[in-house]
Amino acid sequence: MPVKTFGLLVLALASAAPPPAAGKAPAAGTYAPESVAALPNFHKRSEWDPKWKETVYDAPLGNPTRITVHHTEEKQPLERKAIITELQRLLRIHTSKDPKIDGRGWSDIGYHFLIDAKGQIWEGRPIYAQGSHVAGQNENNIGISLMGNFDLEHTEYNKEIPLTKPTAAQLEALAALLNRLGGAYGIPLDRQHVFGHRDLDAKKTCPGQRLYDQLDAVCQAASRKAAAMASRIDTRPAENIQERLRLISTGSPF
Ligand SMILES: [Zn+2]
Repeated sequence: MPVKTFGLLVLALASAAPPPAAGKAPAAGTYAPESVAALPNFHKRSEWDPKWKETVYDAPLGNPTRITVHHTEEKQPLERKAIITELQRLLRIHTSKDPKIDGRGWSDIGYHFLIDAKGQIWEGRPIYAQGSHVAGQNENNIGISLMGNFDLEHTEYNKEIPLTKPTAAQLEALAALLNRLGGAYGIPLDRQHVFGHRDLDAKKTCPGQRLYDQLDAVCQAASRKAAAMASRIDTRPAENIQERLRLISTGSPF
């Protein structure tokens, strides 16, 4: 009996990993929305984590309705090799159960996306899975973390880590990513839907004052990008389009 029960349990867990949301077909090798994967500075998971295998997640993200911005509260590397080493180190900390490295014991890296100081966007946990980035508030919540430690002063936890500022490239990439995620999931790019971690957890300083101070401006920039894209959409009245289609289908010149 115990063996059979265990088998059923494994089966139940395996079926808990849902497929990507319908209508949001990912580009090859990534679960990010196509519009995100199309960003020139986007890097899919396998580029920094070639050994990655899909795992069983605790819960699906569900339909994303909000986005939370973090800092890694760690180093802010500049060179590709150091960036990848740092991403792999964060993954180890998030998934390890070893208290000596402050392991969190999560099923995967906590964030859905990370952004380095050069403004490169790195895919983290697949977007269909609920993240581990805000205690008790991960439902429908996309997690983005900027690499660096943006606090104004050291805390007990981060006292060994240099204090830095988010770079212009990092903020620009954040605005572009917010813009694309807002468009893909219909999330308004205002501060009622885009949070700093501390907005949802008053005990946290995350995403650090130097990034928190920029969030209003980043949301405005992300919305302006959306407006610029919307202005390129064909806004002619639909009946003209219908007339045009009718003319094409009857072979008449137009
Ligand atoms: Zn945070």
